[in-house]
Parts: sequence; structure tokens; C-alpha cells
Amino acid sequence: MKRKRHISLGIILLLVLIMLFFIKFLNNSPPSGKVEKEFKVMLVNKENKLDKEYVPDLVKYNGFKVSKEILNDLKEMSKASSKDNTVLYINNAYRTYKEQDKLFNDKVKEYQDLSKEEAIIKANETVEQAGYSEHQTGRAIDFSMRNNDYNWKMWYWLKDNSYKYGFILRYPKEKEEITKINYEPWHFTYVSKEVAQIMHDENLCLEEYYQKYIEKEG
Ligand SMILES: [Zn+2]
Repeated sequence: MKRKRHISLGIILLLVLIMLFFIKFLNNSPPSGKVEKEFKVMLVNKENKLDKEYVPDLVKYNGFKVSKEILNDLKEMSKASSKDNTVLYINNAYRTYKEQDKLFNDKVKEYQDLSKEEAIIKANETVEQAGYSEHQTGRAIDFSMRNNDYNWKMWYWLKDNSYKYGFILRYPKEKEEITKINYEPWHFTYVSKEVAQIMHDENLCLEEYYQKYIEKEG
């Protein structure tokens, strides 16, 4: 009798151990193929601030840092533009919270004739305060080079084609009142191919897309 009880206790213990092992195994297993599906559109603007600690998973691309999740499509877009004899020149990509803070404070200093409050308001017209810049997401890229004629060629190519690769012109001229940012023909943001296609077909800026498809669905 005593021996039997020992054996059944042993079996129960073994079963518990096997269960624990499987729970741990399931938790640790990678989300196979879910990475793309889990891509979330981020809205960063004057009302939606990024956390000071927010740092995306970064990779290097042509000497710039960008979010890892945009790399494949960025390469694909670059290849496609080259085929159309338009080389894409990057001027700015990922920026840390600290770098953005310095950029903003340097801009404020340019208005030293004004009061501190006025200087901040003035600086904020052209530079975002730290936490309010899309460049901190690693998904925003400024395309630009010195030759301005070439810039327009590049920007028109991007305006017409970037959505096919998941990028959008983030601050279009006709959406200035909604984005609250003046037209920036150089600034493109990655939102994924699926979302970029919808925004392109429905002529939505990111604020409008967010309101229609993300906020309403909760
Ligand atoms: Zn920019």
C-alpha cells in the first residue's frame, strides 16, 4: 500500500513538472510570423507625445539609424526609385529624445531678443519639442540633398510612389490645418504597405486615418 502511494505521488509530481515545462516553453516560443501583423501605426504630433524612454529597435541604413521594422520596405523603395533614375538621399532619420531636445533648445536660443515664452512659441513653429518628433520613432525619414532641383525630382517621385512601399508624405500641403505642421515635401513616415495604400486611396493624412480607423474601433 505504502509503495503504491509513493508511485502515484511520483507520477503526479512528474505530471506537474511536465506541465510547468510546457507553460514555460509556450511563453518563450517566438511569435512566428506575427511580427508584421503586429505592426502598429504610431501617431506622434503636438497632442500625442512619445515617452522619454521610447527607443525603437534600430538598424543602420546608409549611415543613418532607422527602426528595424521599416528596413526591408525602405530597401525595396530605394531599388525601385533607382530604376526610375532617382536616387533617394537621406538627410535625417532616427533622432534620440536628447538630440531633439538639443535641437529645440538651440532654436529657442536663436530668438534671444524675445522673452523666453515667446521664443519657445516661435521655435515650436519649425522644430518639435522633445517627445513630439516623429524622428524619435525611427520610422520618419527626411529625404534631401543640396541640389534643390534634384530634391524636387526626388520628392515628386516619393509623393507618387512611396505608398507602394509603406511610406506616406506626412505633412501634405492640403492637410496643413489638420496636421498643424507646414508642408514638408521631404518628410516621409513609414506606416506599413497596407495602411499606406488605404491612406493613398482615401486621401487621408495620418491624423485622419487614425481617427477613422483606430480611435473609432477603440
Ligand atoms: Zn522630418
